[in-house]
Amino acid sequence: MAKYVNVISRDYGSWVFLGEILTNLSLSPSNPHTSHCGTCTRCIEACPTQAIRAPGVVDASRCIAYHTIENRGPQLPTQVANHLHNWVAGCDICQDVCPWNQRFAQPTDVAEFEPYPGNVAPPLEDLATLTEQEWNQQFPASALRRIKPAMWRRNAAAALAAQGVDMSAQQSNSES
Ligand code: SF4
Ligand code: SF4
Repeated sequence: MAKYVNVISRDYGSWVFLGEILTNLSLSPSNPHTSHCGTCTRCIEACPTQAIRAPGVVDASRCIAYHTIENRGPQLPTQVANHLHNWVAGCDICQDVCPWNQRFAQPTDVAEFEPYPGNVAPPLEDLATLTEQEWNQQFPASALRRIKPAMWRRNAAAALAAQGVDMSAQQSNSES
């Protein structure tokens, strides 16, 4: 297990999908997953909110990924909002710096796993005023539907506010 608490594959790093198969076959369990980190602490040092409190211990209340995807409150906590680094749907900083990903991550060859073309690095200003109708058009069958329109607006506005851009006037015209 990674110190940022993901499974690390020696063949692919941690950017993998986890799946499951339901069966009535009697199967023998494989050996428990082992740690491949050694003395590396890159992810702990790179996390902008100090969410990795100890190897294998991530404090969700400090984690950008948790708050941008799961927190449905009207505001992000200040210590998270001030350190978004433009992340508005999850956060991959700890995985970006991981040597297992830098050496072994591979792009997918499954077309269905590719993002919708219009959703690659969309302008934060557009997300900060995302309407219900635009959300339905942009994320028709996407895991990103987990992030509701008001959450997109909140996250993008917080990322812009960290750059000194105030979107409150434009947001007052958006649907809730
Ligand atoms: S996802 Fe981002 S905020 Fe969360 S532990 Fe990793 S680097 Fe830190
Ligand atoms: S960055 Fe280093 S410490 Fe963190 S999970 Fe990867 S190998 Fe382990």
